Amino acid sequence: MKNQIFKKDEFFEKIEAMGMALSYGDVRLKTAHSEVAPNDVRLASRFSRHVPLNAPLISSPMDMVTEHKMAIALAMAGGLGIIHRALTPKDQAREVSHVKFYLNGLIQKPICLTAQETIGQVLKRIEEKKYSFRSFPVIDGKGRLAGLISGSDLEFCADRRATVGKIMTRAKNLITAQSGISFKQAFAIMTKTKKKILPLVDGKQKLAGMFVYSDVKRIVTGGSSMYNTDANGNLRVGAAVGAGEEALERAELLRDRGVDVLVIDTAHGDSRAVLETLKKLKSKYPGLDVVAGNISEAESAERLAKAGADGIKVGQGPGSICTTRVVAGIGCPQVTAVYNCARALRGSGVPVCADGGIEYSGDVTVALAAGADSVMLGKILAGTDETPGEVFMRDGMPVKQYRGMGSLAAMQASQASRERYSQAATTKDKLVPEGIEAVVPYKGEVAKTLFQVLGGLRSGMGYVGATDVNELQTKADFYYISAAGLSESHPHGVTMEKQAPNYLGRV
Ligand code: 5GP
Repeated sequence: MKNQIFKKDEFFEKIEAMGMALSYGDVRLKTAHSEVAPNDVRLASRFSRHVPLNAPLISSPMDMVTEHKMAIALAMAGGLGIIHRALTPKDQAREVSHVKFYLNGLIQKPICLTAQETIGQVLKRIEEKKYSFRSFPVIDGKGRLAGLISGSDLEFCADRRATVGKIMTRAKNLITAQSGISFKQAFAIMTKTKKKILPLVDGKQKLAGMFVYSDVKRIVTGGSSMYNTDANGNLRVGAAVGAGEEALERAELLRDRGVDVLVIDTAHGDSRAVLETLKKLKSKYPGLDVVAGNISEAESAERLAKAGADGIKVGQGPGSICTTRVVAGIGCPQVTAVYNCARALRGSGVPVCADGGIEYSGDVTVALAAGADSVMLGKILAGTDETPGEVFMRDGMPVKQYRGMGSLAAMQASQASRERYSQAATTKDKLVPEGIEAVVPYKGEVAKTLFQVLGGLRSGMGYVGATDVNELQTKADFYYISAAGLSESHPHGVTMEKQAPNYLGRV
């Protein structure tokens, strides 16, 4: 694969020979004979070596973009959310848990009761901990299944001093299954026996997990073919860490909560601190994928891959709220950056995520055509219901806040943001921002936005004749377009009367 030559290589080589680099507005893809309808294309891809995607969209670890609500929505649409790190490690880990438990595929460590507790104590615990469920396995001192308490048991128990042991259904009267059974097997058992809870036990009768009928049914009977779920049927989620010791502490907590991938999220990924953190994380957690970034040069991609990165993130300054390019005077326009990094990693098995600068759904098609395996979105997702923050009015229009993690406000608010821009030791009144604070139109449910983005990508793949992401990466051929070509690409010579759901300020 490494030496494979694609049509686009000649195009980018010629551009490079002129000392030029291109961005999304500079290029369009050539259409080709197509036998593929947009609805038939396959959007599956990968964020990192072992983290697959059913749709190549990742939400950015920014404090105005990704907490658990966004990550859940992304995973349900087939993509992945990366929880931002401007949170305490504990709070960030809790956000991860919210995502992992959202579908409750297989509950590996159910909350248990003991036979000696009173019903009053149990009800108090439910209230204090805000449990949304009412069924609990009961275990003995050796972790063996002793019985089960259901919501009805609790509801119809008039005596709050009665013990759990007195009212539970005893283990010998329960339907149980051996741990390791599949969702389909669990679904069959629960349907046949009409049981809503199926405790799992190991060979020594120790409790080894639990299935809940509504969750198992949702997973087995569909509506969820796009869901990006792990082997236990839970939604996948990633989380950002920085570089240095704190990253290792964060990683420990995040891994305990079942995070699927860590993202070393910095503005300069080809730096000693990032490479060292990457190596330490990989040697401590060889089974956990680590994506590193951000970079924009081929040699940086090779260096990170050599240091063990399971994926790399490309983008230095293309973001809608970034000012790095003008403040620091550095950076490679994004399409060339993505192409060069992806080409350097061709055949290595290390996926590339194109981070920042996606303005329209067509840019997603271009990013993947240039060689990216996924794109990371900030602005496009900002302003939706699932982002943190409130809707407020500005000039008579509902808006939400969106800000760069290197903006003054974000850096003043969080040490993690100062660290991202190598200003951890700087006092709050001496910061040099590399981002701005903005507002974006309120957009409602993010699912509608994701539908439009993926619809545009499907359409683009149809025009190129690509049945899947790999074909888009290998078949695509580029045009360099002039300023006239770009203005022709947008609506022109008319007064736009109605806002399209996928144009200007929307997608
Ligand atoms: P967008 O999708 O809004 O164009 O770009 C989002 C990306 O911009 C993020 O994923 C992140 O890589 C980058 N980013 C976020 N905040 C800042 C910032 O303040 N400065 C810079 N240079 N980049 C930022």
